[in-house]
Amino acid sequence: MTGSEVYLFDSHCHLDRYPRDIKIGNVIARAAEVGVKSFFVPGVTGFPARIVELAEHSQILLGWGVHPLYSENFQESCCEEIAVALKKSICRAIGECGFDRRAPVKFEKQYAAFLWQINIAIETGKPLIVHLVGHYDTAFTLLQKAQGKVKFVLHSFAGSCEIARRFLDLGACVSFSGSVLHKDHDVLQRLVKMVPLDRLLVETDSPDQRPVFWPGSLNEPASLKEIARQLAGLRNMSEEDFCQQVCRNSAEFFA
Ligand SMILES: [Zn+2]
Repeated sequence: MTGSEVYLFDSHCHLDRYPRDIKIGNVIARAAEVGVKSFFVPGVTGFPARIVELAEHSQILLGWGVHPLYSENFQESCCEEIAVALKKSICRAIGECGFDRRAPVKFEKQYAAFLWQINIAIETGKPLIVHLVGHYDTAFTLLQKAQGKVKFVLHSFAGSCEIARRFLDLGACVSFSGSVLHKDHDVLQRLVKMVPLDRLLVETDSPDQRPVFWPGSLNEPASLKEIARQLAGLRNMSEEDFCQQVCRNSAEFFA
Protein backbone atom coordinates (compact mmCIF):
# COMPACT_ATOMS: atom_id res chain seq x y z
CA MET A 1 0.00 0.00 0.00
CA THR A 2 1.34 3.44 -0.82
CA GLY A 3 0.72 6.58 1.24
CA SER A 4 -1.84 7.89 -1.22
CA GLU A 5 -3.96 4.77 -0.72
CA VAL A 6 -4.26 5.24 3.02
CA TYR A 7 -7.90 5.09 3.95
CA LEU A 8 -9.38 6.83 6.98
CA PHE A 9 -12.63 6.95 8.96
CA ASP A 10 -13.46 10.21 10.74
CA SER A 11 -15.24 8.75 13.76
CA HIS A 12 -16.64 12.08 14.98
CA CYS A 13 -17.37 15.10 12.81
CA HIS A 14 -20.27 17.54 12.83
CA LEU A 15 -20.81 17.85 9.10
CA ASP A 16 -24.23 19.35 9.83
CA ARG A 17 -22.75 22.31 11.70
CA TYR A 18 -21.02 24.16 8.86
CA PRO A 19 -22.52 27.44 7.72
CA ARG A 20 -25.29 26.82 5.20
CA ASP A 21 -23.28 28.19 2.29
CA ILE A 22 -20.74 25.40 2.70
CA LYS A 23 -21.93 22.31 0.83
CA ILE A 24 -21.45 19.05 2.74
CA GLY A 25 -20.67 17.36 -0.58
CA ASN A 26 -17.67 19.65 -1.08
CA VAL A 27 -16.35 19.03 2.44
CA ILE A 28 -16.48 15.26 1.99
CA ALA A 29 -14.98 15.50 -1.51
CA ARG A 30 -11.98 17.39 -0.10
CA ALA A 31 -11.66 14.70 2.58
CA ALA A 32 -11.91 11.87 0.03
CA GLU A 33 -9.04 13.42 -1.94
CA VAL A 34 -6.69 12.64 0.95
CA GLY A 35 -8.25 9.25 1.72
CA VAL A 36 -10.81 10.14 4.41
CA LYS A 37 -13.74 8.19 3.05
CA SER A 38 -16.06 7.35 5.95
CA PHE A 39 -17.65 9.66 8.49
CA PHE A 40 -19.72 9.44 11.62
CA VAL A 41 -21.91 12.44 12.44
CA PRO A 42 -23.25 12.43 16.00
CA GLY A 43 -26.41 14.17 17.15
CA VAL A 44 -26.31 16.98 19.70
CA THR A 45 -30.00 17.97 19.84
CA GLY A 46 -31.52 14.70 18.58
CA PHE A 47 -30.75 13.77 14.98
CA PRO A 48 -28.13 15.85 13.14
CA ALA A 49 -29.37 18.92 11.29
CA ARG A 50 -29.33 18.87 7.44
CA ILE A 51 -30.21 15.20 7.70
CA VAL A 52 -31.66 14.95 4.18
CA GLU A 53 -28.41 16.29 2.71
CA LEU A 54 -26.34 13.97 4.93
CA ALA A 55 -28.41 10.91 4.07
CA GLU A 56 -27.59 11.37 0.37
CA HIS A 57 -24.09 10.12 1.11
CA SER A 58 -23.84 6.43 1.95
CA GLN A 59 -20.37 6.93 3.45
CA ILE A 60 -21.84 9.09 6.24
CA LEU A 61 -23.17 7.27 9.31
CA LEU A 62 -25.59 9.12 11.56
CA GLY A 63 -26.21 9.20 15.29
CA TRP A 64 -28.94 10.42 17.59
CA GLY A 65 -27.93 12.17 20.77
CA VAL A 66 -28.38 14.97 23.26
CA HIS A 67 -25.10 16.69 24.15
CA PRO A 68 -24.80 17.77 27.81
CA LEU A 69 -24.71 21.37 26.61
CA TYR A 70 -28.21 20.91 25.16
CA SER A 71 -29.70 18.72 27.89
CA GLU A 72 -31.61 21.56 29.61
CA ASN A 73 -34.86 20.72 27.83
CA PHE A 74 -34.40 16.98 27.89
CA GLN A 75 -37.53 15.30 29.27
CA GLU A 76 -37.73 11.59 29.75
CA SER A 77 -41.51 11.69 29.35
CA CYS A 78 -41.10 12.81 25.72
CA CYS A 79 -38.77 10.02 24.82
CA GLU A 80 -41.01 7.01 24.34
CA GLU A 81 -41.74 7.83 20.73
CA ILE A 82 -38.07 8.54 20.12
CA ALA A 83 -37.15 5.17 21.59
CA VAL A 84 -39.45 3.38 19.15
CA ALA A 85 -38.14 5.42 16.22
CA LEU A 86 -34.52 4.76 17.16
CA LYS A 87 -35.06 1.02 17.06
CA LYS A 88 -36.16 1.25 13.42
CA SER A 89 -34.11 4.19 12.20
CA ILE A 90 -30.94 4.60 10.21
CA CYS A 91 -29.26 5.82 13.40
CA ARG A 92 -26.01 3.90 13.93
CA ALA A 93 -25.04 5.08 17.41
CA ILE A 94 -26.39 6.95 20.42
CA GLY A 95 -24.70 10.23 21.35
CA GLU A 96 -22.92 12.30 21.81
CA CYS A 97 -23.93 12.34 25.45
CA GLY A 98 -22.29 12.58 28.84
CA PHE A 99 -21.20 15.29 31.22
CA ASP A 100 -19.58 18.66 30.74
CA ARG A 101 -18.79 20.63 33.86
CA ARG A 102 -18.41 23.78 31.74
CA ALA A 103 -22.00 23.59 30.41
CA PRO A 104 -24.49 26.05 31.95
CA VAL A 105 -26.93 23.19 32.53
CA LYS A 106 -27.75 21.72 35.94
CA PHE A 107 -25.97 18.49 36.75
CA GLU A 108 -29.32 16.73 37.37
CA LYS A 109 -30.43 17.54 33.83
CA GLN A 110 -27.17 16.29 32.35
CA TYR A 111 -27.44 13.15 34.46
CA ALA A 112 -31.00 12.36 33.36
CA ALA A 113 -30.16 12.82 29.68
CA PHE A 114 -26.98 10.73 29.90
CA LEU A 115 -28.63 7.90 31.82
CA TRP A 116 -31.54 7.76 29.38
CA GLN A 117 -29.14 7.53 26.46
CA ILE A 118 -27.05 4.79 28.08
CA ASN A 119 -30.24 2.81 28.56
CA ILE A 120 -31.49 3.35 25.02
CA ALA A 121 -28.09 2.26 23.67
CA ILE A 122 -28.39 -0.95 25.69
CA GLU A 123 -31.96 -1.49 24.52
CA THR A 124 -31.22 -0.88 20.84
CA GLY A 125 -27.80 -2.56 20.84
CA LYS A 126 -26.20 0.56 19.36
CA PRO A 127 -22.78 1.88 20.44
CA LEU A 128 -22.57 4.94 22.68
CA ILE A 129 -20.57 8.13 21.96
CA VAL A 130 -19.49 9.67 25.25
CA HIS A 131 -18.50 13.32 25.69
CA LEU A 132 -16.86 13.69 29.08
CA VAL A 133 -15.41 16.80 30.68
CA GLY A 134 -15.48 16.42 34.46
CA HIS A 135 -17.85 14.39 36.66
CA TYR A 136 -15.64 11.39 35.94
CA ASP A 137 -16.62 9.39 39.03
CA THR A 138 -20.33 9.61 38.29
CA ALA A 139 -19.79 8.72 34.63
CA PHE A 140 -17.66 5.79 35.69
CA THR A 141 -20.39 4.48 38.02
CA LEU A 142 -23.05 4.75 35.30
CA LEU A 143 -20.89 3.04 32.68
CA GLN A 144 -19.76 0.40 35.14
CA LYS A 145 -23.41 -0.58 35.64
CA ALA A 146 -23.72 -0.89 31.86
CA GLN A 147 -20.50 -2.89 31.49
CA GLY A 148 -20.82 -5.75 29.04
CA LYS A 149 -24.17 -4.43 27.78
CA VAL A 150 -22.99 -1.53 25.65
CA LYS A 151 -19.82 -0.60 23.79
CA PHE A 152 -18.73 3.00 24.14
CA VAL A 153 -16.10 5.46 23.00
CA LEU A 154 -14.69 8.40 24.94
CA HIS A 155 -14.62 10.98 22.20
CA SER A 156 -11.80 13.53 22.15
CA PHE A 157 -10.98 12.59 25.71
CA ALA A 158 -8.96 15.17 27.63
CA GLY A 159 -8.70 13.71 31.14
CA SER A 160 -5.70 12.15 32.82
CA CYS A 161 -4.16 8.74 32.07
CA GLU A 162 -5.34 7.51 35.49
CA ILE A 163 -8.95 8.37 34.71
CA ALA A 164 -8.66 6.89 31.24
CA ARG A 165 -7.27 3.68 32.72
CA ARG A 166 -10.46 3.16 34.76
CA PHE A 167 -12.64 3.52 31.65
CA LEU A 168 -10.32 1.32 29.60
CA ASP A 169 -10.79 -1.36 32.24
CA LEU A 170 -14.53 -1.17 31.47
CA GLY A 171 -13.74 -1.85 27.79
CA ALA A 172 -13.83 1.75 26.51
CA CYS A 173 -12.55 2.80 23.12
CA VAL A 174 -10.83 6.20 23.04
CA SER A 175 -11.00 8.58 20.10
CA PHE A 176 -8.30 11.22 19.53
CA SER A 177 -8.65 14.49 17.68
CA GLY A 178 -6.02 16.96 16.49
CA SER A 179 -6.04 18.64 19.91
CA VAL A 180 -3.62 16.00 21.25
CA LEU A 181 -0.99 17.29 18.87
CA HIS A 182 -0.63 20.64 20.62
CA LYS A 183 2.87 20.81 22.06
CA ASP A 184 1.79 21.21 25.69
CA HIS A 185 -0.46 18.15 25.67
CA ASP A 186 2.12 15.66 26.83
CA VAL A 187 -0.44 13.94 29.10
CA LEU A 188 -2.66 13.21 26.13
CA GLN A 189 0.33 12.08 24.12
CA ARG A 190 1.10 9.57 26.87
CA LEU A 191 -2.51 8.47 26.63
CA VAL A 192 -2.19 7.91 22.88
CA LYS A 193 0.57 5.41 23.65
CA MET A 194 -1.40 3.77 26.46
CA VAL A 195 -4.69 2.94 24.72
CA PRO A 196 -4.74 -0.62 23.35
CA LEU A 197 -4.26 -0.38 19.61
CA ASP A 198 -7.50 -2.22 18.83
CA ARG A 199 -9.51 0.34 20.84
CA LEU A 200 -8.10 3.52 19.37
CA LEU A 201 -10.19 5.66 17.01
CA VAL A 202 -9.42 8.98 15.29
CA GLU A 203 -11.62 11.98 14.66
CA THR A 204 -11.55 15.65 13.74
CA ASP A 205 -14.63 16.91 15.65
CA SER A 206 -14.80 19.38 12.77
CA PRO A 207 -15.73 22.15 12.26
CA ASP A 208 -14.37 22.54 15.83
CA GLN A 209 -10.94 21.65 17.24
CA ARG A 210 -8.93 23.09 14.38
CA PRO A 211 -5.46 21.54 14.54
CA VAL A 212 -2.47 23.92 14.67
CA PHE A 213 -1.37 22.93 11.19
CA TRP A 214 -4.78 23.42 9.53
CA PRO A 215 -4.89 26.54 7.33
CA GLY A 216 -8.66 27.22 7.22
CA SER A 217 -10.69 28.90 9.95
CA LEU A 218 -13.02 25.89 10.14
CA ASN A 219 -11.63 22.44 10.70
CA GLU A 220 -12.52 19.77 8.12
CA PRO A 221 -12.34 15.95 7.99
CA ALA A 222 -9.53 16.40 5.43
CA SER A 223 -7.27 17.33 8.38
CA LEU A 224 -7.53 13.75 9.62
CA LYS A 225 -4.77 12.56 7.30
CA GLU A 226 -2.15 14.73 9.00
CA ILE A 227 -3.59 13.98 12.47
CA ALA A 228 -3.28 10.24 11.74
CA ARG A 229 0.26 10.66 10.38
CA GLN A 230 1.36 12.37 13.61
CA LEU A 231 -0.49 9.88 15.84
CA ALA A 232 1.18 7.02 13.96
CA GLY A 233 4.51 8.68 14.80
CA LEU A 234 3.59 8.79 18.50
CA ARG A 235 2.80 5.07 18.33
CA ASN A 236 6.02 4.34 16.41
CA MET A 237 4.01 2.84 13.59
CA SER A 238 3.99 3.36 9.86
CA GLU A 239 1.17 5.59 8.70
CA GLU A 240 -0.23 2.76 6.58
CA ASP A 241 -0.36 0.22 9.42
CA PHE A 242 -1.80 2.75 11.83
CA CYS A 243 -4.54 3.88 9.42
CA GLN A 244 -5.46 0.32 8.54
CA GLN A 245 -5.83 -0.58 12.19
CA VAL A 246 -7.88 2.48 13.24
CA CYS A 247 -10.17 2.06 10.22
CA ARG A 248 -10.80 -1.53 11.21
CA ASN A 249 -11.53 -0.37 14.76
CA SER A 250 -14.08 2.21 13.55
CA ALA A 251 -15.77 -0.26 11.22
CA GLU A 252 -16.10 -2.74 14.08
CA PHE A 253 -17.28 -0.10 16.54
CA PHE A 254 -20.10 1.10 14.27
CA ALA A 255 -20.94 -2.38 12.85
ZN1 LIG B 1 -18.82 16.48 19.02
